[in-house]
Amino acid sequence: MPHPRNAMEIYQFLDKSNCRECGEKTCLAFAGAVFMGQRKISDCPKLTQNIIKKFSDNEITNTIEQNRDATLQTLKDEISAIDLAKAADRIGARFSGKKLTLKVLGKDFSVDTNGRLSTDIHVNPWVAVPFLNHILYGKGIPLSGNWVPFRELNGGQERYPLFQKRCEEGIKRVADIYTDLFDDMVHLFNGRQVEKQFESDIAVVLKPLPLVPIMVCYWLPEDGLESSLNIFFDETADQNLDIGTIFTLGAGLAQMFGKLAQRHGYPLNDMP
Ligand code: SF4
Repeated sequence: MPHPRNAMEIYQFLDKSNCRECGEKTCLAFAGAVFMGQRKISDCPKLTQNIIKKFSDNEITNTIEQNRDATLQTLKDEISAIDLAKAADRIGARFSGKKLTLKVLGKDFSVDTNGRLSTDIHVNPWVAVPFLNHILYGKGIPLSGNWVPFRELNGGQERYPLFQKRCEEGIKRVADIYTDLFDDMVHLFNGRQVEKQFESDIAVVLKPLPLVPIMVCYWLPEDGLESSLNIFFDETADQNLDIGTIFTLGAGLAQMFGKLAQRHGYPLNDMP
């Protein structure tokens, strides 16, 4: 089947009963989440195996890549229509010379009143989309200091299986073979090693956005048990960024760390 071009092309195959068994409020919301790669089509129990087979993970992943550029353009247009100085005030960003600036992984990342992005780091959509979404819709709620797993955020439960596969397992695969990963998180991405949390062996806090920090906890293998890795968020994260964009952020970090390991000569055949 050709890649779906929009959520309606997925919606047409759904039962349209809005029964909520998938955890979404409506079939249309479910179709949107599948289109964005945040849910699997098989999460709807009403579909036949034939329809599930029509959609593979790869097809949806490619669609997300194509869709990201369009999403980015829409967000830039929305930015050019708002009062950027007010938005800066709401989320605690700097505003000067018609530019709003925030630190992304410790580096300045800016957007001007025409929606133009500028930064010290490479602009890629997985950073730019959360950055713009946070400016447009983030409530600016101060950090609580309480760390919670993705599934405890609003809307995170249903998306957690895919978050675990794309983000946590992806970063764990990198950490298992690329032993400098946590050093790189600290030195290249302005992370901060913190006291071991939840009895982990390593815990590093990164700030992809100042109000949406993440904590990566890694447990080394021991006594025949595999290593494991979990990502935690401040419990206010879902008020400063919507859950779909938090997912994008996690998936983007996993990809970025995978590419970093590859550049250092560690082959990761099964990239997230
Ligand atoms: S489980 Fe399927 S039919 Fe029910 S709301 Fe979700 S998508 Fe619609």
